[in-house]
Amino acid sequence: MRKFLLLCLITLSAITSYAQRTIIYCGKLIDTRSMQVLSEMTIIVEGNSISGVEKGWLPAAAGDHLIDLKNRTVMPGLIDSHVHLEHQGSPDAQLKEFTQNPADIAYLSTVYARTTLMAGFTTVRDVGGTGVNIALRNAVNKGIVTGPRIFTAGRIISSTGGHADPTVGYRNDLIGDPGPLQGVANGKDECIKAVRERYKEGADLIKITASGGVLSLEKDGTGAQYSEEEIRAIVETAKDYGMRVAAHAHGAEAMKRAIRAGVTSIEHGTFMDDEAIALFKKYGVWYVPTIIAGKSVADSAKIPGYFPARIAGKALAVGPIIQGTFARAYKAGVKIAFGTDAGVYAHGKNWMEFVYMTEAGMPALEALRCATVNGAELIGVSDKLGTIEKGKFADIIAVEGDPAQDIQAMRRVKFVMKDGIVYKSE
Ligand SMILES: [Zn+2]
Repeated sequence: MRKFLLLCLITLSAITSYAQRTIIYCGKLIDTRSMQVLSEMTIIVEGNSISGVEKGWLPAAAGDHLIDLKNRTVMPGLIDSHVHLEHQGSPDAQLKEFTQNPADIAYLSTVYARTTLMAGFTTVRDVGGTGVNIALRNAVNKGIVTGPRIFTAGRIISSTGGHADPTVGYRNDLIGDPGPLQGVANGKDECIKAVRERYKEGADLIKITASGGVLSLEKDGTGAQYSEEEIRAIVETAKDYGMRVAAHAHGAEAMKRAIRAGVTSIEHGTFMDDEAIALFKKYGVWYVPTIIAGKSVADSAKIPGYFPARIAGKALAVGPIIQGTFARAYKAGVKIAFGTDAGVYAHGKNWMEFVYMTEAGMPALEALRCATVNGAELIGVSDKLGTIEKGKFADIIAVEGDPAQDIQAMRRVKFVMKDGIVYKSE
């Protein structure tokens, strides 16, 4: 018995001493908290966590796995706080609702998830789909599918006829009467039930459409579609289940109601006025701009026949406004988290949002902070994500060039590590 115990101890100590460390040499390393570019740094990774960050080239010990990124700029894995991994925009989007089965959506979503990770986005908030996004998250977590860490809203909650009512624009005999289970809820009681349905399905957060939107067949793309009382019921119920609420809102009245009702973030925020800006600051609500989505739908609307006429009109009216809104919100000191609405445009081009943010006056390093530190704070995972620090998950990426000098470097992601595993190394 004693001999057996001794053997166990020896084996255990052997495992411990041979647990492989990964040593990463970084030519440049972006500290996303202080917004500084550090040079000649070493990151030490053990298992799925960062166990140290040191100045200079730490000598590798026997058995260490060495990764040389001396000619790269290294930063924390990026966080996109507004994506839709189930879909990608196309002229036949409406038809697809009648031709795609959940399995078709699922296969495609695995491709979009992989593309997103390879573009350096190691974490995303999926703010709405058919529920396949919950299965996708589970498959990624189990290591079955290659993709980013996913925090998902499952299905969006909308009022009847609202932006995310899944039957808007259908023929009368196909409209039916979707309810809280399908994400359609009216009045306090149904709103409470809709949140509980999402909890039951396994959502991580709640997404609502507080106003109309562009890419649905409803007439009004900006007006309020929930009362403050309904949104408050959603927020309070979500809180019971440890979930935060993200509110899609283009019109000012919708975002004001949502902010006063206690949501965590406003998505798009297109027609934000001074009163709305003041409310954002008073309530400490996050703004997730999605400039690229606005530009992309406006571009597509110029292609004859790409969208139905009703959508094209809304896209041209709403799309081009967002970048200016972002500039005003930034200047006013509204808290901003990086989000792109990927799926409205082609997955993997998320980096272009950085270009639009800097064009609108935000310094590059601050834009990177929006996509790291701020994203983690918005989601509620600052203890594990958003910076390269001891104790955090080893979500680390590297680009060719220095984005602080030229933001276009963000398109050249050459290295991706998520949870201590290398997915890309060029
Ligand atoms: Zn969206």
